[in-house]
Amino acid sequence: MKKIIILIALLLLTGCSGKPADIADTPVEKVEIPAASGGEEETENIKEPEKENEEFTDEEVIAAIDMSLNPNELGEIMILMYHGIGEEESAWQRTPDNFRKDLEYMYQNGYRMISLNDYAKGEIKTKAGFTPIILTFDDGRQNNFNYIEVNGEVIIDPDCAVGILEEFKNKYPDFDVTASFFLGTNIFGQEEYADKKLNWLVENGYDIGNHTFSHNEMATLDSEQIRMEIGSVNNIIKQHVPDYIVETLALPHGSNPKDEFIESMIKGEYEGNKYETIAVLDVGWRPAYSPFDTLTNFRSLYRVTASEIDVDNCGIYDYFNSYEKNLRERFISDGNPDVVTIPQRHNEYLNMDMVEGKLVNIY
Ligand SMILES: [Zn+2]
Repeated sequence: MKKIIILIALLLLTGCSGKPADIADTPVEKVEIPAASGGEEETENIKEPEKENEEFTDEEVIAAIDMSLNPNELGEIMILMYHGIGEEESAWQRTPDNFRKDLEYMYQNGYRMISLNDYAKGEIKTKAGFTPIILTFDDGRQNNFNYIEVNGEVIIDPDCAVGILEEFKNKYPDFDVTASFFLGTNIFGQEEYADKKLNWLVENGYDIGNHTFSHNEMATLDSEQIRMEIGSVNNIIKQHVPDYIVETLALPHGSNPKDEFIESMIKGEYEGNKYETIAVLDVGWRPAYSPFDTLTNFRSLYRVTASEIDVDNCGIYDYFNSYEKNLRERFISDGNPDVVTIPQRHNEYLNMDMVEGKLVNIY
């Protein structure tokens, strides 16, 4: 186990809203919390870029972080909630062109995709200076993943969600394109292709989540029913992709189970197969906190509706605009998944359980 080093360096934050001035005079100090198994030797030399990563001391790893990018790993992360991608724009459907517009905006404005599963594990691999963003699609509609036949050949519909995501994967290889698809019993229509689609998703870096068997409100169910709702869908997916582990859940209608039944949603067994849920998604209405934030509840994560209709000032562009105007703070990666870099003013929100085994860099 690595020791946790907390470096408190003075650094004035630029471009952020409010209250950095009071830390300007904080002296540089360093607090070391040694772990049980003892630490490594420190060296004076802090710049030897030709070294392999594992040879760097903790101080060198932290010194390599580009602080001019204002990393803020306690900033917000948007988990976008999409449903359909189709010709008619509505509260629950984006047109192909509007979905392209969203993706173009994200790419041009410093957002890079991460998987919900990595978020839930605190494994943020986003390049330094960029903001992670998570795309989710509920209900397994055919227009999320549609095969069409062209000249006798079966291809992915270029205007379905997956087709458009692949278009951007090719256009911008550093966009880190990925998404989670939340399924019930409907696996993107086209039953004959269910197997092909699920295997294709897993092989191409996408994730599959659970959206329950009957799409009922969890609040109306008891633990036995919840077990069936989750376990049966996991088992259906398992038949198609036996090695893939479903570990995320999107709540139908955003309805949370009664408190006494929450554990059945998190862990259980159904018809011989165990399941464990590491991230549970609500329906709205605001960005999620950082996975390292004590305010994050992985059993009830906020999402932002990826729509511009009936969003009541809580839609995708409302939040994009808030970040542009620095009215809210977005997560800005320090570029190293093993280091969590945060401004000192957020110190009290750091969830020490989530940063265990990582270096913490407070400035
Ligand atoms: Zn749904």
